Amino acid sequence: MNVRVRIAPSPTGLVHVGNVRAALFNWMFARHHDGVFILRIDDTDRERSEQQYEDEIKEGFRWLGLDWDEGVDVGGEYGPYRQSDRMDRYREVVEQLVESGHAYYDDRSTEELESLRQKAQKEKLHPNFFIRRPARAATAGVVRFSVPQDASVEFEDAIRGEVRFGSEVIDDFVIYRSNGTPTYHLASTTDDLDHAITHVIRGEDLLSSTPKHILLSRAIGGAEPRYAHLPLIMGPDGKPLSKRHGPTSLKEFRDRGFLPEAFRNYLSLLGWSIDGDRTVFTTEEAVAAFDLSDVSKNPAVFDTAKLEWMNGEYIRALPESEFIERVRPHVVSGLGRELDSDEWAQFSEMAPVVQERTKFFSDAGQQVGFLFTDEVIYDEPSWAKVMEKEGVSDVLRVSSEKLAVLDRFDHDSVEAALRSMLEELEIGARKGLQPLRVAVTGSQVSPPLFESISVLGKDRTLNRLAYCVERIG
Ligand code: GLU
Repeated sequence: MNVRVRIAPSPTGLVHVGNVRAALFNWMFARHHDGVFILRIDDTDRERSEQQYEDEIKEGFRWLGLDWDEGVDVGGEYGPYRQSDRMDRYREVVEQLVESGHAYYDDRSTEELESLRQKAQKEKLHPNFFIRRPARAATAGVVRFSVPQDASVEFEDAIRGEVRFGSEVIDDFVIYRSNGTPTYHLASTTDDLDHAITHVIRGEDLLSSTPKHILLSRAIGGAEPRYAHLPLIMGPDGKPLSKRHGPTSLKEFRDRGFLPEAFRNYLSLLGWSIDGDRTVFTTEEAVAAFDLSDVSKNPAVFDTAKLEWMNGEYIRALPESEFIERVRPHVVSGLGRELDSDEWAQFSEMAPVVQERTKFFSDAGQQVGFLFTDEVIYDEPSWAKVMEKEGVSDVLRVSSEKLAVLDRFDHDSVEAALRSMLEELEIGARKGLQPLRVAVTGSQVSPPLFESISVLGKDRTLNRLAYCVERIG
C-alpha cells in the first residue's frame, strides 16, 4: 500500500508543540514507508485564519526538516490543499448527503433543541431521540448529519487497539453552517477521502471526533483511512502542556536557538522510543525504526529541562567550525549589531569554551557580549556580592601590575600572572578570581576567566580593572 498521510494545521495561531509532534510522527511514518507526506491548511475559519500564521507553519516545518511532498505551495494531483479553495466541493458533498438521506437541514433554535433533549431525558430515551427526528422538514438552517439510532462505531486504532463509541455519545452533529461554511468534521473528512489519505495520525484530543468522521466517510463513500491517536502531551506536573510550563510554540523554540536536529530528536520521544533507554539518535535512525505500533498509549511528558540538556549535547557534538557558523546569526541578533572581522576572530578564539557551555545558540551572544563593548554593563547583584568586599581593590591593583608587564597575553601567561597575584596576597582562587571575573565581564557568570581575559586583550582588561578600582574608591 502506498502510504499517504497528512498534517492539517489551522493557521489561527502559533503552532503548538502537540501539532509539531503530530507533524513529525506523520512525516517519520511517511518516510519509513516511502510514502507521501501532505501539508493541508485547514483555514475554513476565515475570521481567525491569518496568512502570517500559515507562513509561520511553513517556515517552522521547513526549519525542522519536515519537507512535504504534496500540499500548499508544492501542489500535487489531488489538490487544492487549502480548505478555503475547496468550498464548492464541501457544498457538493453536503447536497449529496442531504439527497441520500444522511443529513438534513435543521432550523430549530438552540432553546428548542434543549427542550427536546429534556423531553427525551424525561421519557428515558436517547438524549438525541427527538433531535434526530425533526418534526418539520426545513430547507434552510444548519445541516446536521443524521446519526443512525443504533450506530455504534468500532475501529482498530493503530496505537490504541480496539476503540468503540456507542451511539449515545454521538449526537446529530452539524456539518454545515447557515453562513455557508463547512464544519471541521465535514471539511476534514471530505479532504481525507479526496486526498486518498491512508492513515490519519493525530492527537488524542481528537479521538472523540473520529467516530463522526468514520460515519461521515461511510456516508460519503470512498476508502476509509486507518486512525492512530497520539498520546496527549503533559507538563512535568501531569497537567496538559500549556504556557505555564514554558514555551509551547514552534516559533518560541526556534527563537531560543534550539537546533532543529535536537528538537526533532526530543519530539520523537514524546510517546515513542527507539529502543529501551536510548535517547540520542539521528533522524535517519528514527525513520528506519519508526512504527506506529511502538507508540505509547500513555501521556507523554514534555520536560523542557531534558530538551535543553539534549540541545546542549547536540551543540557540543558539532564540529567547531560548524558551531561558529550556526551560532553566528544568534550572536548578531543578541548583540543587536554585526561584528567586524577582528571581532569575529576574537569570537572564534573564544568559541570552544563557549560551545562547551552553551545550551542554546541564543545564550552565546550573552556569554560573549563583554568582548564586544567598550562599556561593560555591570550586573548589580554580582557587583554588590563580589566587589563590595574587603580586599577587592588589592586584588584588582596587584592583578593589574602583574598583567601589565606580560609580553605575551595568552591563556597560560594570564593564568601564571594571576596565580602569582593569589600567592602574593595569600588568598584562595575563589576569593581572588571572582572579583576579576566581575570586573572584566560584568557578571559572576561568564566563560572561563583566563580565556576571557586573554581574548579581551591587555589594554581593555587593564582599563576595566582601573575603572573598577576607581568605582570602589
Ligand atoms: N485543523 C485540525 C487541527 O489543527 C486538524 C486536526 C486533524 O488532524 O484532523 O486540529
